[in-house]
Amino acid sequence: MLKKVVTSFAFLILFFGVLKVSAQDKSEYYSCNTSLWIDNQLIKTENGFLTQNYSLLVPLDTVEFLGATYEWEPEIWRIRIRSEGRNLTMYISNYNCANGTNVEKMPAQPTIHNGTIMIPIRYVVEALGAKIAWNGKKDSVFVSTKGQIPEEFYDNEEKDETVEALKNRIIVLDPGHGGSDPGAVAWGIEEKTLNLQVAKILKEMLQKAGATVYMTRSEDVFVGLYQRADIANNLKADLFVSIHHNASTNSGAKGVMTLYYPTSKDTRMNGQKFAQIVQKNLVNDLNARDWGIIPRPNLVVTRETKMPAVLAELGFMTNKSELERLVTSDFQYKAAESLLKSIIEALRQ
Ligand SMILES: [Zn+2]
Repeated sequence: MLKKVVTSFAFLILFFGVLKVSAQDKSEYYSCNTSLWIDNQLIKTENGFLTQNYSLLVPLDTVEFLGATYEWEPEIWRIRIRSEGRNLTMYISNYNCANGTNVEKMPAQPTIHNGTIMIPIRYVVEALGAKIAWNGKKDSVFVSTKGQIPEEFYDNEEKDETVEALKNRIIVLDPGHGGSDPGAVAWGIEEKTLNLQVAKILKEMLQKAGATVYMTRSEDVFVGLYQRADIANNLKADLFVSIHHNASTNSGAKGVMTLYYPTSKDTRMNGQKFAQIVQKNLVNDLNARDWGIIPRPNLVVTRETKMPAVLAELGFMTNKSELERLVTSDFQYKAAESLLKSIIEALRQ
C-alpha cells in the first residue's frame, strides 16, 4: 500500500514536473458571455466565464451540478474533482490532468480569475462521463448528466434544413498522409495524427446530420494519392474534403488556407467555389489568419477527383502557439464544425 502511494506520487511529480514547460507558454484568457446550461438549469456566475484556446472555463464549484465534489489545496495550487469512482487531479496554470492513473492534456489550463478557480468545462464533463454540446449560434453550452442532449437545445428549423441538404449525399473525407508518411512533424507531433482526429470528429457530425460518409483512411495506414481520388470517384461522391495541417520554415507563420484545382468550367459548384466557402468559414470560426484560397494545378487529390474538392490546411504546426491549439479537442471540434457548415453550404447551392 505504502509502495503504491510512493509510486503514484513519484509518477505525478514526473509528469507535472517534466511537462511544466507548457505552463510557461501562456495562451491568453478572454472573458466571454457564453451561457451554460446543466440539465436544463442555467448556471449563473458572478464573475462570468473565460475562454482559453477556444475552451470555456467555468468556476470550480460548477462540478457540484455534475454530482461531483471538489477539493482545493491553495498551498500547492492543486484541484481535485471526484465523482463515482472517477478522480481528476489538476493544477493551476498546467495543461496536465491526472484522470485516474492516466495523465491527459487538457485543452486549457485551470486558472484563478477574480479569486475564483476556473476549470475547462468540456474536458471535466467528458472525463466525468457526462455529455456536452455547444451551440455557436446561441453561444451556449449545454451539459447533460442524464444521457442525450435534448433536441430543443438545437435550432430545429436549421436542423431540418441540414438534414434535407445532407440526405442521400455522399461525402468523402481524406485525412492527409498516414502510415510511413507522417506529413509535417513539429515538436514530436505528426500531422497525420491531427488530420485523422479532425476527420473522425467531422465524420461523426456529418453522419449525425444524415450524410453518408466515407474516409480514405480510418487508421494510421499509408494510402496513395491516386487511390484516394479513386475511392471518391468510385463512390460518385458529392464532395471531397482533404484535411491537412501546414508547415513553414517561418516559425511565425500561422493561419488557414484552402487549396483547390483550377478549372475553367463554371458549374454551380466547383473546387474554387467550394474552397471559397470553406476558407471563409474557417477564418471566421477559428478566428484565424486568412491566407486565402490557392489554385494548385498539381495537387493530385483535388485534380483527380471528379466532384468539387478542396484541401484545407487548418493551421501551422511549425508555429508553437498555433500547434498548442491544434492539438486540443476543442479546436478540433471547432474545425470540424466549421467544415460541416461549409459542406452544408456547398450542397445547398
Ligand atoms: Zn499535409
